[in-house]
Parts: sequence; C-alpha cells; structure tokens
Amino acid sequence: MRRQRNVKIVATLGPASESYEMIRALHEAGADVFRLNMSHGTHQEIADKHRIIRQVEADTNGAIAILADLQGPKLRVGAFANGSEELIEGAAFRMDLDPKEGDATRVCLPHPEIFQALEEGANLLVNDGKIRLKVLTCGDDFAECEVVTGGTISNRKGVNVPDVVLPVAALSEKDRADLEFACALGVDWLALSFVQRPEDVDEARALAAGRAAVLSKIEKPSAVSRFEDILAVSDGIMVARGDLGVELPVSAVPPIQKRLVRRCRAAAKPVIVATQMLESMIESPMPTRAEVSDVATAIYEGADAIMLSAESAAGQYPVEAVKTMDQVAKEVEADPTYGQIIAASRTAKGDTIAHGIVAAAREIAETTDIKAICCFTQSGTTALLTARERPGVPIIAMTSLRDTARRLVLSWGCNCVMTDELDRFKGAVVNAARAARDGGFATASDQIVVTAGVPFNVPGTTNILRVAPCDERLIYNTDPE
Ligand code: PGA
Ligand code: MN
Repeated sequence: MRRQRNVKIVATLGPASESYEMIRALHEAGADVFRLNMSHGTHQEIADKHRIIRQVEADTNGAIAILADLQGPKLRVGAFANGSEELIEGAAFRMDLDPKEGDATRVCLPHPEIFQALEEGANLLVNDGKIRLKVLTCGDDFAECEVVTGGTISNRKGVNVPDVVLPVAALSEKDRADLEFACALGVDWLALSFVQRPEDVDEARALAAGRAAVLSKIEKPSAVSRFEDILAVSDGIMVARGDLGVELPVSAVPPIQKRLVRRCRAAAKPVIVATQMLESMIESPMPTRAEVSDVATAIYEGADAIMLSAESAAGQYPVEAVKTMDQVAKEVEADPTYGQIIAASRTAKGDTIAHGIVAAAREIAETTDIKAICCFTQSGTTALLTARERPGVPIIAMTSLRDTARRLVLSWGCNCVMTDELDRFKGAVVNAARAARDGGFATASDQIVVTAGVPFNVPGTTNILRVAPCDERLIYNTDPE
C-alpha cells in the first residue's frame, strides 16, 4: 500500500486490536509495523496475532513488519498481606529476600543479584517512579531505605534501579523462550528491553542467528552512556521514553531523543521514538495540542518511525490514533521547513562507492524531474543508505528477499517491492519502471533513478546509477544487456 509520507507508524497490538478487522483497519489507516508485546499474552495468543497480520499483508499485497518486544529483566516486588500499603515520606522501608508477604515496613524483592549490586545512596524507584526510596544501608539480602517520595505500593509493582549497572542477564529464561518462539514464528524484528551493555545485544543476536533483526530499547542510563557501542551492534534503536523518563529526570529525555535520532540516521539504522505520543487518545478521540506537537517534533527531528503503545493496544480509539499520526506526518512533511531541517542535519557521507552512489541518486533526483529512486538491494544496506540521505522523492526498495522487504518497512521512506531474482541489469530497470508505475509513483512519460550492483546477488556491490524512462519500450530499445 503506497503511503503519502516517509515516517513510519508502529502500532502495538493488545486487547483493543486483536481481530482481523481491527488489524486491517489499523493497517489501512496507516500502521506499517505491528508490535507484539511479549510481556502480555500466551504464545498461542501471540501466534494468533502473527497469523492475522500475515493474512492482512497477503490481502493488501504489501509488506508489513512485525516487531516482537521482549520483556527483559524487569524487577518486581512480591505481594503484600493487605494487597497494598501506603508509604509515608520520611518513613523507613525495607526490601529483602524473605518471601513472607509484605506490610507497611517491608516487602520481598526476589532478586538476590540486586542486593549484591546495590550501594548506599542508590535510589529504588517503584511503580513507574511514583515512589522513590533511598538506600541507607544494605547487605547481601536486604536494603534498609528511607521513603523520599511516598505513595501507594501494591502487589508485584515494578522496580527501577537507575544508578546501578545490574549484574542480571539481559535475557531471562522467559525471554529466551519468547525469543525462540518469535523467531520460529517468523517475526522481522526483536526489541530488547533494558539493554545495559553491548554484550546484551550480542547475546540476543547470537540466539536470533539472523532470523530476525535486533533493535535495542534505550531505557537505562547505562545504555545512554554506552550508546555508541550499543548502536554499533544493533540493527535499530528505540528511544523508550517511558522507562527512560523514570530512570532519569524526565527533562533529560528530549535532549537524549534528539541526539539518538541524529546518531541513528548518521549510522543508517532505523530509530523509533516511543511512548506517550498520543497518551490522551487512550480515552479521548481528540489528542491534546502538546501531543500533536510531540509527534511533529519527532518527525522534524528525522525519526524513522513513531510508535503507539496503549493507544492502539488497549485504548478506545486505536484507529483514530493511527489516523492522527498519519495526518500529522503528512502535514509536517509537506512543510518546506521540514525539508530544510532534514537537509541541514544530513551528515557527511561515508567513503564507500555505495555512499557515493546513493548521494548522487539523491542529488540527481532533487535537481531534475525524477519521480522515484529505485534501489535493488539484497541485504537491505543500499536502501538504508538511501534512506539516510532522506531524499525528496519516494524510495522504492526492490528485493527478491521477503525478509529484507519486511525489515525495511521500519525505515524512513522505504516502499518495499518484491521482485524476481535478476541477473541482467536491463531486466532490473524494466522491473523498476514497472514497480514505479504500478505503485502510482510515476507514469510512462516520467523518469526514475535506478541503483543496483552488478553482478547481481553479491552483497555490497552497489556500482550502477541509471536515469531511466518509465516506458519499457524505450528501455528495451536503448539499454545494453
Ligand atoms: P515498554 O517500552 O512499553 O515495553 O515499557 C517502551 C518504553 O519504556 O518507553
Ligand atoms: Mn520500557
């Protein structure tokens, strides 16, 4: 399905969006990528959603990316005898390994490795940071804390420990089982939660073994400080503002978002800006002005994708939320200021032939009347490099590999088209012209730019740039084999 915008929309699926009709409606409204949250639902339920998405993909003749989000090492307190307790500012509160039910003075935190890593003065944040505890003293199996910010604590609430690099495995037993299940199903992307170090990503990559691309969620201060190393070993990044804004002051999130988006573009890797983008639309058909502005800001910054979480998973207006993002994106991308910002934030290109060709393709497309840049790609790299240029005309990523087409759906501007396996450049140009016409990007009297690597099917050989007519007869008459 041709979109009239370049930024992509990721919609998280949940109870509000499980049926074929709803998933199809979300896709038609603009959702390009669907996120399956492995923290919720059984494997059977995940498999059902996966099957429905692939059905929608087949019925709409497009490519849809599926992203499976692994829960990661999320820490939780145990249960309370009364279900919940009120913590008062200034009071003492203890966390320990005793499995006995908690009360107003203590609760179990069933993670021995945390106590070993904790230090005096560290902060423990409970329930998305609503409650803040400061560690006064700690040992191998306990931490005596002072309540800095009080509130209601209840059964199995989440705990964040921002100041400490936790010696916990990036992937729990559940994560390993979920990863294997998701890869066997055939998801395109895996998202890793609470990544702390590049080794965490290496571990997941080894398990995925090329079956899915790996995206790191940046939501820990340690991931921010080791961002460059994490980016180097990741296929993509998510600015996970929900947990990031708990682990760091919320005011630290916007500058981090700006920096990460720029760095990802320079590295030609897709970046998603996520969480609370249209939060009020969980319950209201109309977004707030501030939310619309937040969505617009992420697009002006050059993000590859913007994401809906509870808005599409559990809200009352999932389709309206997708439509809102779609509308904001079209408006922003039509603004001449957007083009200026995107051009001004383009970083120097790399020194490979492929970098030179994609930059030339963009320049030609922008200085003459070219309707699209068609790039033939097997690994997806040429399409990613073309997207990095953020050209002013549509990118048509042509590939014979379905996995490559689906992964590229997450990247800025990539319209993914399946093509036969090719061995002649002339045939490639004919296919590109046909794809441009069939997709409504060009008519027979228009011209396109085609990039490819000859010989075909050898990765990393991008070495041809051809300005081609969209009329097949002209190509047959003029082009060498
Ligand atoms: P989550 O990740 O929704 O899985 O927590 C996103 C975020 O933390 O922003
Ligand atoms: Mn998170």
